[in-house]
Amino acid sequence: MVNLPLREELRGAEPYGAPQDPVPVRLNVNENPYPVPDQVVQTMVKALEEIAPGLNRYADRDASELRADLAAYLKKESSVTLEPDQIWAANGSNEVMLHLFQAYGGAGRVALSAIPTYSMYHEYARDTGTAWATVERTDDFTLDLGKLEQALHQHRPSLLLLASPNNPTGTALPLTQVRQILRMCATTGPQIDGADTATVVVIDEAYAEFRRPNVPSALTLLADHPHLVVSRTMSKAFSLAGLRLGYCAGDPTIIRHLQTVRLPYHLSAVTQACARAALAHSDQLLAAVDQLRQRRDDLVQWLREEGFTVAESDANFVLFGPFANREDVFQQLLAKGILIRVVGPEGWLRASVGTESEDARLRAALKEITR
Ligand SMILES: *Cc1c(COP(=O)(O)O)cnc(C)c1O
Repeated sequence: MVNLPLREELRGAEPYGAPQDPVPVRLNVNENPYPVPDQVVQTMVKALEEIAPGLNRYADRDASELRADLAAYLKKESSVTLEPDQIWAANGSNEVMLHLFQAYGGAGRVALSAIPTYSMYHEYARDTGTAWATVERTDDFTLDLGKLEQALHQHRPSLLLLASPNNPTGTALPLTQVRQILRMCATTGPQIDGADTATVVVIDEAYAEFRRPNVPSALTLLADHPHLVVSRTMSKAFSLAGLRLGYCAGDPTIIRHLQTVRLPYHLSAVTQACARAALAHSDQLLAAVDQLRQRRDDLVQWLREEGFTVAESDANFVLFGPFANREDVFQQLLAKGILIRVVGPEGWLRASVGTESEDARLRAALKEITR
């Protein structure tokens, strides 16, 4: 057998991914359980018919119209006015994040995050040769700013990644904390030519649309903080995980840096057209979000009444426990056709909010298993 020169960091590594088993109740990757509504499908099909003959040409590499539509959506959703040059779009927020690492990470650079959090962050760091540093969240998964500040000064990271609402815990960051963090990060980046730089603060708002009414978005802080990036996606609230469309908002200078590292024509004309068609129906696509939030709150309450500890959730999933043997509970649920996720600190399990009947099946199964 040939001996291949795989990078040291990748030896023994497995491809990322939760199981995609065709079980009846899939509550393991925080997808929206509702299919794309018919009317939206029709608009997408029409848009594809229009652009398909032009597929002999490369796509608009700047995705200008899509970025304008995304800015208009954010205005509606968070009352923040943004220009298209403050928006960047890519194949999922995963690719947006990779662009951030390609622009600001790399050899000799550090990225910092607060764990437990989204496990992909660590992989972007690994794949771009960026050193990875973490601070532990507190017992209720909130941030200890003293600890964070210490880590910022110790590591001088070029990137700080904070998911809000966080995955897998569901915890959102209060804006007062984000403001304090932005202040801390103004000069904690690596020194370049003897000068301090800022740490780029990335607030990953993949689940923002599910936040509770009194929880504002970090988008409101963009105007005063040129080192802030807020990342969003159409994978969760929009019911479009299969489309692969993520985006971020930030200072035009940051967006230009991301543009520098993207592959040419990274976002296909098909993706751009489908995303624009979907955004034209954002109200309809997001109609289920209110129900999902309500059912999230109901599920949290029910789990607490059953005696579980449940992390505060502003997302479309809940992290609950403790289980003496969580792997065993996971397997028993799977045997009943319900797929959830073994993730987070030892003893906890995560379940996405599903349809009404899926939630009912989860509750019934948990009651049987833990009785
Ligand atoms: C699901 C999720 C995303 C979304 O990734 P996409 O590439 O947009 O599908 C991003 N961040 C977090 C924390 C997530 O849980």
